[in-house]
Amino acid sequence: MTPEAEGFLRRAIELAAAARRSGNPPFGSLLVGPDGTVLVEEQNSTITDANISFHPELKLAVWAASQLDAETAAATTMYTSCQPCEMCSGALARSGLGRVVYALSGEQLNGLKTGGSFPAVPQEGPALYDEAKVPVYGYYP
Ligand SMILES: [Zn+2]
Repeated sequence: MTPEAEGFLRRAIELAAAARRSGNPPFGSLLVGPDGTVLVEEQNSTITDANISFHPELKLAVWAASQLDAETAAATTMYTSCQPCEMCSGALARSGLGRVVYALSGEQLNGLKTGGSFPAVPQEGPALYDEAKVPVYGYYP
C-alpha cells in the first residue's frame, strides 16, 4: 500500500471516529477521483437519520452512480474504514466504481464486536413464474 493510500485510509478512520462521536456506528468512507483528489466523504448516520441503509459506503455508491460518468466512476477509488457489508457490496457492484480499499476486514470487525451479526431473514420462493416473468420479459437486452 502506498503512503498516499494509507493517508486516505487514515481519513476514513477519522470519519469513523467522527461518526461515533455523533452517536452513530463507527464507520467512514471517501471517494478519491482519477486525479487523486477527494471527491466526497461520508459517515455512517444510521442512528441519527433513523435509516438502516445509511452506511457511508452505500451513500457514496449512490452518489457515484448519480453524479459521475461511467469513465470517471471506473477510475475512482473508495477508501473505507471497514470492508463493505453485503448490502453495500451489492450497491458497489451497481455503482460503476473501480476499486475499494479498506482498513478493517469484516472478520477483524467481528472480532471487535461482543454481539453476533444480523440474523438472516428466511426467504421463500420461487413461485408464480408464469405471472412474475411478464413484467420482466424483454426488459433486459
Ligand atoms: Zn454497509
